[in-house]
Amino acid sequence: ALEDLNISGMMRRCRVKVDEKTGGFLKNGQSRKKGLNRSISDASWGELILNIEYLAAKQGKVVIKVNPKYSSQECRNCGHKDKYNRDGEKFICTECGYHEHADIGAAKTIRFRALNLVRGDSAKPGISA
Ligand SMILES: [Zn+2]
Repeated sequence: ALEDLNISGMMRRCRVKVDEKTGGFLKNGQSRKKGLNRSISDASWGELILNIEYLAAKQGKVVIKVNPKYSSQECRNCGHKDKYNRDGEKFICTECGYHEHADIGAAKTIRFRALNLVRGDSAKPGISA
């Protein structure tokens, strides 16, 4: 199971922001984004996905792409979505206090969403999934 990510969209440059009063440029997050773009292209995500799809097809397995929305902000215990649930590597639900490593939790959420697609149900997230 993979997140259905729009890689070219993620790597697009940020829109330029201009201060209406002074005409000068304002911070638009591009310098921060540059680091993200670099790590996306370093990891060659597109190539990695192709490789996974190739190997899966060779072994008769399926690759399922799931909606990536809020995968790192959604609590797997209670389903609460909040950007404040995530603090760097830590995930701590602001609603129920459930906590775990943010990346591992997001990976489990992706697996859960894929299983839901296969099973055709839309149950709430659960720790066991
Ligand atoms: Zn929660």
